[in-house]
Amino acid sequence: MKHQSLTGFRDVLPEEQPYWRTIEKKIAEITQLYGYQRIDPPILEETALFLRGVGTTTDIVEKEMYTFTDKGEKSVTLRPEFTAGVMRLYIENGMHTRPKPVKLYCVGPIFRYERPQAGRFRQHNQFNVEALGEQDPAIDVEIMSVAWQLYAELGFTGLQFQLNSTGCPECRPAYMKELRAYYHGHYDVICNDCKRRLDQNPLRLLDCKNESCQPVIAGAPVITNHLCKDCETHFSTLRNDLELLQRPYVINHKLVRGLDYYTKTVFEVWAHGIGSQNAMCGGGRYDGLVQQLGGPPTPGIGFGSGIERIIMSMKEQGLEPEPVPETQVFIVHSGNIARKPAVQLTFALRAEKIRTLLSFGQRSFKSQMREANRSGAAYVIILGEDEVAKNMASIKDLATGEQKIIPLDDVIAVLEERIWK
Ligand SMILES: [Zn+2]
Ligand SMILES: [Zn+2]
Repeated sequence: MKHQSLTGFRDVLPEEQPYWRTIEKKIAEITQLYGYQRIDPPILEETALFLRGVGTTTDIVEKEMYTFTDKGEKSVTLRPEFTAGVMRLYIENGMHTRPKPVKLYCVGPIFRYERPQAGRFRQHNQFNVEALGEQDPAIDVEIMSVAWQLYAELGFTGLQFQLNSTGCPECRPAYMKELRAYYHGHYDVICNDCKRRLDQNPLRLLDCKNESCQPVIAGAPVITNHLCKDCETHFSTLRNDLELLQRPYVINHKLVRGLDYYTKTVFEVWAHGIGSQNAMCGGGRYDGLVQQLGGPPTPGIGFGSGIERIIMSMKEQGLEPEPVPETQVFIVHSGNIARKPAVQLTFALRAEKIRTLLSFGQRSFKSQMREANRSGAAYVIILGEDEVAKNMASIKDLATGEQKIIPLDDVIAVLEERIWK
């Protein structure tokens, strides 16, 4: 019987690795540039953390979590997102006592039992950035710019922010009341999901994807007309900063998070050729979350960006990753007496940081040369019995075809001269 990977799980083969390495490298560079520090929370957490930290009425918690009972009879869950675990880490490690803002990022897999569809995986990797302990809209702009710069440096064009404010516990209730009243007036035409949302999670009414709900959404009251003074100032400062930095944005009233601890800023980044279903990333402010999870009142803002999504978009847009460095030298050898110096030379070259491959087994000279050509090596060192008997070696430049015999002891120096010149 052949084994197969689970539905929604995928293998990443060597051919795709350049995309991963390119993105990881950019993430490391850009987070350093902005002063964000890496953390690595565990993949497995108590289920209760996500019930409180993600919200029990969300699709994630209702349908998508990998939850099981471990051998100690404890309910545990493979993280379906990063933020709740990061907040737990922040509180548990007393990071609220550090100078603020505390600026953190992480990269790794998250798990959601989603319906299999193109570009959706049950294990997928996410780049997650959070800034804790700062109210200033300047940190909102900073967080948003981390995402922006990542996509820009990867080569995406037509970048644009989708932006909204979801208010705060001060101003949201009045808006929600008006939104509910409006929806009750359209109860007959909205979808069944929206009928349910109307009671449980009214803000989510606004991001219903159902066709029949679109005209209702289009006519719905907008929250940005209901912001309190504090939320309004925050939102206008943020917009002014984005204009100052010449970052295009569009106010999108459908953009909501829909949980009480989300406040003020909500954003997505869109790019050329990538539609609303395919936002590059989404994030927002969650000034109530740390407190909700048992920590001191702490404002926070963050975003998550799926790495598979970035790779898929790079491929669609024809954006090339950085190439993997090719083999520099290939060692061909024939006959018993050549084997020993061939092995020695291979490892000596690697010690000098020259990327070197050695032919294995007892292959014919011709098949070793074929292998050398396939490897992408610039130079072949040939150790035949005749050469080795005279303490010599042949060096062949595969690009020009030029070949000459040099003393075996000089091979490293000659290669270093040619490769690093
Ligand atoms: Zn407010
Ligand atoms: Zn609907």
